[in-house]
Parts: sequence; C-alpha cells; structure tokens
Amino acid sequence: MKILLLGSGGREHALARSLAADPSVTELHAAPGNPGIGRLATLHAVDPASPEAVVDAARALGVDLVVIGPEAPLVAGVADALRAAGIDTFGPDRAAAELEGSKAFAKDVMLAAGVPTADARVCTTPEEAAAALDEFGAPYVVKNDGLAAGKGVVVTEDREAALAHAAACGRVVIEDYLDGPEVSLFAICDGERALPLLPAQDYKRVGDGDAGPNTGGMGAYSPLAWADPGLTGQIMREVVEPTLAEMNRRGTPFVGLLYAGLALTSRGLRVVEFNVRFGDPETQAVLALLETPLAGVLRAAARGELDTVDGLAWRDGAAVVVVSAAAGYPGTPVTGGRITLPDDEDDAYILHAGTRLDGDTLVAAGGRVLGTVGRGADVEEARTRAYALAARIDFPDGFHRTDIGVAH
Ligand code: AMP
Repeated sequence: MKILLLGSGGREHALARSLAADPSVTELHAAPGNPGIGRLATLHAVDPASPEAVVDAARALGVDLVVIGPEAPLVAGVADALRAAGIDTFGPDRAAAELEGSKAFAKDVMLAAGVPTADARVCTTPEEAAAALDEFGAPYVVKNDGLAAGKGVVVTEDREAALAHAAACGRVVIEDYLDGPEVSLFAICDGERALPLLPAQDYKRVGDGDAGPNTGGMGAYSPLAWADPGLTGQIMREVVEPTLAEMNRRGTPFVGLLYAGLALTSRGLRVVEFNVRFGDPETQAVLALLETPLAGVLRAAARGELDTVDGLAWRDGAAVVVVSAAAGYPGTPVTGGRITLPDDEDDAYILHAGTRLDGDTLVAAGGRVLGTVGRGADVEEARTRAYALAARIDFPDGFHRTDIGVAH
C-alpha cells in the first residue's frame, strides 16, 4: 500500500511511525511533513490545505490511501476533492468536518442525536452574550464558534473578561460550566461503524499544576487506570454511535477520526467538544500502545469496510508524552532555537512537532516543538522513561511541564 500523509506536527510524526511500521505499507509519503517524519517518509512541498495540490500529488504518486492529519485541510474540503477523484481517504468531507469547524453545528447535532453536552447559547451581539453569561452564571465558558486551534475557549470567573472574549470573537457559543475530569476518546469511523482507541487524558494548561493559559496541549497519557472499565463502551453507546447515526441521517456520513472530548461531571458524562481528526498530543501516547497495524485499519475505514477489522490489539501498560515547547508559547514562541536530540530507545523516543532543519542544524519552528514518548508497565514507569529521555534533549530555548502523568 502506498500512503500519503498530510500534516507536519507531532500527531503526524506519531501517525507516520505507526504507518511505517505496518508491513503492508510499501511507500510512505508526507506533505509537507517535518524533519522527524522525513526519516520515515518521502517529503513533498505541497500545501496540505489546497484540494487541487493534494489531488495532483496523490495522483502523481499513485497512492492507495490519503491520511489527513490536521483540521485545516478537512475544513477546506481536501477530503471531498480526493473522494471525487476516486482516491481512498481517511478524513471527513467538509460538511462532516463542521462537527469541529463550528461549535454551533456540533451542538445542533448533539441535540438532535440526544448526546449529553453542556447547555449552550449561540450569541452574536454583546447584549446576547451578556444575557447568556447571566443565565449560566460563573465560571463563564465562552467559545469562539470557528476554528481556533484549541485556543478559542475562555473559562473565567471574570465577567468582563468573558464579555471581552465574546466581543473579540464575534460569534460565540456560551455554555454551562462542566466540572469533573476530562477524557479524550478517539474512534476510527467508516461512516456507519466505529472502532474506539484507548482513552487518554491531556494537559491543556501551559504550566505545572494546570497554571496559566490554555495551549494546544502540553502532554498526555493513556490508558486511564482510574477510569471505570465500562467507560469506553458507555462513550461509544451514548456519544459516538448516536452522532454517527445523526450524521448519516443528514446525508453527511462521518468517515475518519471522531475525537470526543468529554467531562465526567458530577451529573454524568458530557461532551465538551468534538474534533474531526486525531488529537495532538494524545495520539502520541495512544499510538505508542497500538499493536494492530494501522494502515489496514485506516484503509478499511476509508472504504466503509470497518466490519472486516476484528478490533484492535493493544500492548499492556501505559504511555506518556511530554511536550517541549518554545519559550513564549502559547503567546509568541521564540523560533529558531537550536536543538540537539539524544538517540531514541525502545521504550522512549522523540517525535518532532514544530522543527525544521537550518542547514544541518535542527531548530525550533513553532510553539510546540517536540514530544517525548515513554512506555512502561504503568503510567509511573512510562513517565519516568519519558522524562529521563526529555532531560537529555539539548534545547536551551525550550521548556516542558514536569507533572505530565501525575493525576490531575
Ligand atoms: P474546547 O476547545 O471546547 O475543547 O475547550 C478547550 C478547553 O476548555 C476544554 O478542554 C476544557 O478544559 C475547557 N472547557 C471547554 N468547555 C468547557 C465547559 N463547558 N466547562 C468547563 N470547561 C470547559
């Protein structure tokens, strides 16, 4: 099988690692990729969010499957264009990607499907926003309706700050505050059926002890030893399956990765958000434990044939990923900082997220720069291995949280 993988982050490096390890994969291409992915795949300087450019590249390379990593190409209709060209694609069409592209659309689908989520109001004027804030009370939750790379949400006790965020965004969703631990569950979907991956938990705040602003994610671990063993089944029954059925009913079946971000509240399970692609950084931890070859599963999903897959096999134990970010992140990160990496080990390895080569020198090229993955018999051993390897990264302009994998 020849595969083209779109994207350039840590999630795509994790996907590339799993795809490259699948014996059925004969050629792996990536666009645009990054220096880490470049060790596993042939890189192509193609804009992953341009439907025409991606279709041309997929045709020229003669690939059997395109795997779309990030949300931007999905919302831009890259999957629609590939399917129209007859190319098997793992990733939803633009209409189905609205589950992530618009918080208001996601709320509408959940309401129709009977999926538990926070009660919410869509607001476009300061007056509507003020009324919704007062209806729900503090803490206030204000979400930009459009795509914001995980940074469009403000949760605050400060009514003025909540109003200011609403005014800055224009169209927002204001909703009830959800308490309780958060869980991410990914499901590989073929339009009708879904196969769950292991649940994970990520760390969104920039600082130790969940201090500071939200980020795209500073680390994650999987699975959740503390969770009820029935949790995955419950999420499939109450969230994923009804959502797939509702998307089908609307004539926009969901093919790709459905990411359910959930809160286990004192009143029961609630969806915080949907994403329509693998989560970053949870994917780095989850895929570290997957034993089933990934490419065949993604192709079966792309072809609507997930019934041919007998479930997924997982390694025992746990995995932890620690993100190294550039100083200044999530504000303006210092880019260009020099990085020297230690060698990977069997149960600890480094994934590239925002790196580039400056001649022969690896440098930081974005906010989240590296992810160090550790695997072990339990989260404790996995985190010890991840932090031991991360400590050997020479990246003077970088920083990481020191409490990833410690319960939160
Ligand atoms: P989202 O982009 O919707 O995932 O929101 C980002 C983060 O904001 C979530 O992971 C939560 O930590 C927080 N958040 C979002 N919605 C709520 C809510 N209704 N109640 C409490 N926290 C929330």
